[in-house]
Amino acid sequence: MSVASSRHVRGGAKRQALLYARHTARRFLAELETFCGYPTISGDRRRADDIQRCARWLVARLRDAGLGQAYLIQTAGSPIVYGEWMGRRDAPVLLIYGHYDVQPVAPLNEWRTPPFQATVRGEHLYARGASDDKGQLFTHVKAIESFLRTSGRLPVNVRVILEGEEEIGSPHLSSVLTADPQKYACDVAVMSDTRMLGKGRPAITYALRGSVSLELDVRAGPRDLHAGYFGGAVANPIIILSQLLAGTHDRHGRVAVPGFYDDVKPISSAERRFMRRHGPTDEEILRNAQTRTPWGEAGFSPYERTTIRPALIATGIEGGYAGPGSKSIVPARAGAKVNVRLVPEQDPQEVASLLRNHLVSSTPRHVSVSVRQHAGARAVELDRRHWAMGAAATAYRRAFGARPVFLRSGGTIPVVGMLQDILGVSTVLMGFGLPDDRIHAPNEKFYIPHFTRGIEASLHFMTTLAQAGLAKAPPEL
Ligand SMILES: [Zn+2]
Repeated sequence: MSVASSRHVRGGAKRQALLYARHTARRFLAELETFCGYPTISGDRRRADDIQRCARWLVARLRDAGLGQAYLIQTAGSPIVYGEWMGRRDAPVLLIYGHYDVQPVAPLNEWRTPPFQATVRGEHLYARGASDDKGQLFTHVKAIESFLRTSGRLPVNVRVILEGEEEIGSPHLSSVLTADPQKYACDVAVMSDTRMLGKGRPAITYALRGSVSLELDVRAGPRDLHAGYFGGAVANPIIILSQLLAGTHDRHGRVAVPGFYDDVKPISSAERRFMRRHGPTDEEILRNAQTRTPWGEAGFSPYERTTIRPALIATGIEGGYAGPGSKSIVPARAGAKVNVRLVPEQDPQEVASLLRNHLVSSTPRHVSVSVRQHAGARAVELDRRHWAMGAAATAYRRAFGARPVFLRSGGTIPVVGMLQDILGVSTVLMGFGLPDDRIHAPNEKFYIPHFTRGIEASLHFMTTLAQAGLAKAPPEL
C-alpha cells in the first residue's frame, strides 16, 4: 500500500471514529456516571470490595471497547486493570496510564449531591473522581472503542494500565512493572491527570515537582497536666512545635533548613521567559486559590514559586484540647505534618534527612521529638521537544481549536518518574481538567464539553502519533 493510500484509509478511519464518538456521546457519559458511582477510595481499607468490583467493571469496558486482551493484575493492594492491542507492526506502542482510585470524600456535609452519585448540573458532572481521574482516563477508553468499533483497528499499538492506588502513592505499581518490563515495553506514555489553563485553553504539562512528607510528634510527658498547678513551669509541646514550624522559614519566605537549597540549580533566563510567555499570570493563580494574600520566596513570581522552586508546607497540626469551651491543661504532646515539594536534582531522602536533623536539633533537650517519613517521589522534567509532544499539540489543536501552552506543574505524579526509570519512556501529560474542578475537595466536577473534546483529542493523538512516530519530529513552539 502506498503512503498516500494508507493515509487516506487512516483519515477515513478517524472520520468514522469521530462520528461514532459523537453519536455515542450520551452513552459514554452514562457509563462515566456508573464508573463514578464506585466508591474506590484507595486510602480506606473498607473499600477493598468496591475497588475489586470497579476494576472488574473496567475490564468489561475495555473488552466492550474491543480490546481482546484485557484482564486484572492482582497485587497485595488494589488490582491493576490491564488491556492491550498490538495489531500494527509498523506503528509505535503507546502506553495509556490512568487511575481509577479516588481521594476520601470528607467533609461529606459540604457536598451538594452525594459524592458517589454522579450528578449533572449545568455543563458539569459532579462526583468524587469525576475529574481526578475517572473522567480523564475514560476519554482514552472511549477513543479506543470509537476506533475499534468502526474500523476494527487502532492507528497505534496500545497498552492500557489503569491503577487503583495512585492516590496513596502507587505502592505496588513499580514492582509489577519491574517484574516484567518487557511486557510493558512501549515508545511513549500518555496520562490525562492534569489540568488545562481554562475552558478551551489546552495545556501540556512538562514538569512536575517531587514530594516527600514527614510527621512529627513532640512529647513532654506521659499525660496532660493541670494548667494552674503546672502552667509556667513545664514545657508546652504546642508552643515548642509552633516554634519548630515557624523556624523552618525566615522572614523573606525562604526555607531556613540548612542545606535545603544546595542542590537547587538555577533556571536559565530563557526558560524563565518561556514560562512568563506561556504560564498563568499572578492574578490567575491567586484567583484560582481564591486568595488575595500572596506569600513566598522573594524574587520569584507565584508561578515560579510553585514550579521551579522547592517549598516546605505545614499541612496539619494537632494537640491539646480543641473541643467546645475551654479546658485548662498543659498538653502532654502535639503533632504536625509537613510536606516538601522538590525540584529536579533534589533527592527526596536527602531533603527529608536534612529536615529531620534540623527539627530534632532545634528541639529543646528536655522534650522528645519523633519524626516519621513517608515514601517520596523525585521531580520530573520532560522534554518539550519530544516527538510525541508535537503529536499531542496537534491533537489538542484539532479537538479544541486552540494551540496548547506548555506548563510546569507544582504537583507530583510519582508514576511519571517510575515510567521513566523502569520502562525508559517519556510521558505526555495531556490533561482535560479545569483549575476549579475541586479535585481532592467537596463537589469535585468534570466539565462535560472537555470529556467530549478529550475523547476527540485522544483520537487525533493516536492518529498523529502514528505519523509522528515515523518522522519523530519535534513540535513547533
Ligand atoms: Zn489523579
